[in-house]
Amino acid sequence: MADVALPEVKLNLYNVKSPIQVKVVENRIVTKESSPNIVRHLVFDVSGTQLEGNVIAGQSVGVLTPGEDQNGKPHKLRLYSMASPSRGEGGQSHLISTTVKRTIEEIDGKLYTGVASNYLCDLQPGDPVLLTGPSGRRFLLPEDANAYQYLFFATGTGVAPFRGMIQDLDLSKTSATLAFGCAYRTDVLYADEFDPLARDQASFHFLKAISREDRRTDGSKAYVHTLLEDAPEAVRTQVAAKNTLIYICGLKGMEWGIYKTLLQQGHSSYFDPKNDEGVAWLKSVASGAAKITEEDFKTYVKPGPRLFEEVY
Ligand SMILES: Cc1cc2nc3c(=O)[nH]c(=O)nc-3n(C[C@H](O)[C@H](O)[C@H](O)COP(=O)(O)OP(=O)(O)OC[C@H]3O[C@@H](n4cnc5c(N)ncnc54)[C@H](O)[C@@H]3O)c2cc1C
Repeated sequence: MADVALPEVKLNLYNVKSPIQVKVVENRIVTKESSPNIVRHLVFDVSGTQLEGNVIAGQSVGVLTPGEDQNGKPHKLRLYSMASPSRGEGGQSHLISTTVKRTIEEIDGKLYTGVASNYLCDLQPGDPVLLTGPSGRRFLLPEDANAYQYLFFATGTGVAPFRGMIQDLDLSKTSATLAFGCAYRTDVLYADEFDPLARDQASFHFLKAISREDRRTDGSKAYVHTLLEDAPEAVRTQVAAKNTLIYICGLKGMEWGIYKTLLQQGHSSYFDPKNDEGVAWLKSVASGAAKITEEDFKTYVKPGPRLFEEVY
């Protein structure tokens, strides 16, 4: 397939040297109270700034945390994906939103809390925050978005861009599947939006893999990539369709299970061979002769024009 035409987007209207100050208007928790994880939905008012109307679903903004790191240098910029649709949160162009997970780690009994995520999660409505961006020019819906079908794979906050993209799509003209993975049922993000949408729109499917709770029919754990194996018929048809695009966002490493499953299922058209050896490898994979290893995958093929990925 030829390259998918992507829209022209605005980039770096604000940068680290000249960030823009905006205000937080909402900060609410989106994981359930009993969850061991904390993820929050933040809305920023960008009225009167160049960000208004210029940040689209799939792009990110940079956040500058006040203060200094342990070397006395200003904290480095951290990127956060937009969770709002391209027309703005709730259709209001002056509002943009993101989904932030508080990062926290204990190493040798010492507690480390992530700088930017905890700063953001602590902000109150009315608080100022310095942003840069927008950034990102490839992880976007195509220009002619409703001419394609979509399979969105997300783990955790990787769902943010898909929340915006799904709102950008006209589901009376196209179809989309959101395959979401997380550890506990209490961590399913935006289920209050996606569950009713899946109920009301036959063209939208919402699949969940809760790795520490769900078991598949053979007793094994459910992960985001096993959703491809256990998918309902409508989703299987979608994966096989020539106009389907696959987007992957979330935890680094999640992409490999999805790639392997696609190859095992014979969907090699999502990949491009790197060279003649890649062509031969894809053929042997298709005939069942080659064992699919991550090393061979990296050596011989790369994601093709129908695959989009943003992992962090
Ligand atoms: C394109 C892109 C989009 C992104 N979108 C999102 C998004 O939508 N939502 C989201 O939540 N994140 C997103 N991220 C990730 C985000 O940018 C940050 O990396 C993340 O929030 C962690 O940043 P932090 O400043 O909180 O943690 P950091 O301060 O950078 O720390 C990172 C981790 O290390 C631990 N740590 C800190 N200091 C130490 C130490 N001395 N020793 C050992 N461990 C330590 C922290 O607890 C934390 O778990 C995105 C990243 C990219 C690249």
